[in-house]
Amino acid sequence: MPFEYAPAPESPSVVNIRPSYGLFINGEFVDPKDGERFKTVNPANEEVLAEIATAGPSDVDTAVAAARAAYEAVWRDLPGRERAKYLFRIARIIQERARELAVLESIDNGKPIRESRDVDVPLVAAHFFYYAGWADKLAHAGLGPDPRPIGVAGQVIPWNFPLLMLAWKIAPALAAGNTVVLKPAETTPLTALLFAEICQQADLPPGVVNIITGAGETGRLLVGHDGVDKVAFTGSTEVGRAIAKTLAGTRKRLTLELGGKAANIVFDDAPIDQAVEGIVNGIFFNQGHVCCAGSRLLVQESVAEELLDSLKRRMARLRVGDPLDKNTDVGAINSAAQLEKIRSLSEIGEQEGAARWAPPCELPERGFWFAPTIFTGVSQAHRIAREEIFGPVLSVLTFRTPAEAVEKANNTPYGLSAGIWTEKGSRILAVADRLRAGVVWANTFNKFDPTSPFGGYKESGYGREGGRHGLEAYLAH
Ligand code: NAD
Repeated sequence: MPFEYAPAPESPSVVNIRPSYGLFINGEFVDPKDGERFKTVNPANEEVLAEIATAGPSDVDTAVAAARAAYEAVWRDLPGRERAKYLFRIARIIQERARELAVLESIDNGKPIRESRDVDVPLVAAHFFYYAGWADKLAHAGLGPDPRPIGVAGQVIPWNFPLLMLAWKIAPALAAGNTVVLKPAETTPLTALLFAEICQQADLPPGVVNIITGAGETGRLLVGHDGVDKVAFTGSTEVGRAIAKTLAGTRKRLTLELGGKAANIVFDDAPIDQAVEGIVNGIFFNQGHVCCAGSRLLVQESVAEELLDSLKRRMARLRVGDPLDKNTDVGAINSAAQLEKIRSLSEIGEQEGAARWAPPCELPERGFWFAPTIFTGVSQAHRIAREEIFGPVLSVLTFRTPAEAVEKANNTPYGLSAGIWTEKGSRILAVADRLRAGVVWANTFNKFDPTSPFGGYKESGYGREGGRHGLEAYLAH
């Protein structure tokens, strides 16, 4: 098999979306056996983008069998340095096709092109580069006397970071010697299918990566399949709980990355302008469709008024609209169902007595849109302080002392992330130590790096992705 990197394709200024897509099984696109299909739409204008195959039981069987065959015949026994070459090659092709991937991601998901171009796609390439570097070092890195792959991984991902979640799942699995069957979310299948083309372009042996599309039922069939040895799920806590029940008592290994309700804590000595940027990034990045979004602002009472004035002025400058416009800050909500959920929880917030504020902004007539919104006068008992809204909606609470801030921040069933804004290093360490959150950012927010493990406490799930921990999740010791 040739190992030169594939030449860059003609730099595509427009993505090529086919009218319909098959399932990617054993290295090729195939029609679903019972011919069932669904549509994926552009959330910014509700236009149908393509027809997507629904994988039924026999398609899932075929995909898992292909992954098993590739595992036993090729991938498991391939020397790590050879697996690394494939991962490096995939990473390079992602860089070469970055523009195409970013545009397609923004069209299918609704996120601003500035984010898919500057954050999502570069991080996707970085993940493949990072784990490529691990593939030939497993035996000598203190990962146990004989670190071995687990087998076939069944992976199910959500719609908020379609490509990045794919990278978090596929890169470590392949580096460790596993093969995969991955199901993207039903509202954002297109970049996973483009990734399937990239696997072909990289000459990845057939069956090492299989992409099957469909809704929750396809995911249920995949995670429950007897031929799957390891399940990795990212999505809602509700579905994660159902999967954990199904897998209890089976041989399957499970990692869960679930919801969050992160506190972004601003102390009175924090530089206000910097904190405001961090708050805006924390909740309006990716329309707030972020599991670790800073959706609860905890601000020290003495600076609350000043900070909120400044935050409102900053929000009034946010540009909401066309995801493909490079000046857009806040794009479209991913689906009608998600928009309905955001609307309904916001109405509940008002009914519970919190004060709602949004800057005047003209939203496009077609498509799914929600203006950046804050709620003040929120109490801990309010549903908007407890439930994940997964949209551009910030609940503001106040505190007087560091102890009260910690108590309020931890008063949630979730435990994925948190932010601290203060100039005092000792306070950062003391507060971070008491927060029950998998990631704590200090004077920044929503920073990701492939070398850092990411994952939750409590109902935010278990297991870590990223870094050495992310690799260990795909190794049998
Ligand atoms: P979701 O749970 O509804 O769906 C996630 C995926 O699971 C989709 O692919 C869906 O088709 C599939 N699915 C649905 N029912 C299933 C079942 N019974 N069995 C197997 N698969 C099934 O979540 P969503 O609305 O797509 O995503 C939003 C959620 O994801 C939020 O709660 C968010 O916090 C969470 N999330 C967490 C992380 C993290 O790293 N912790 C990252 C991104 C998103």
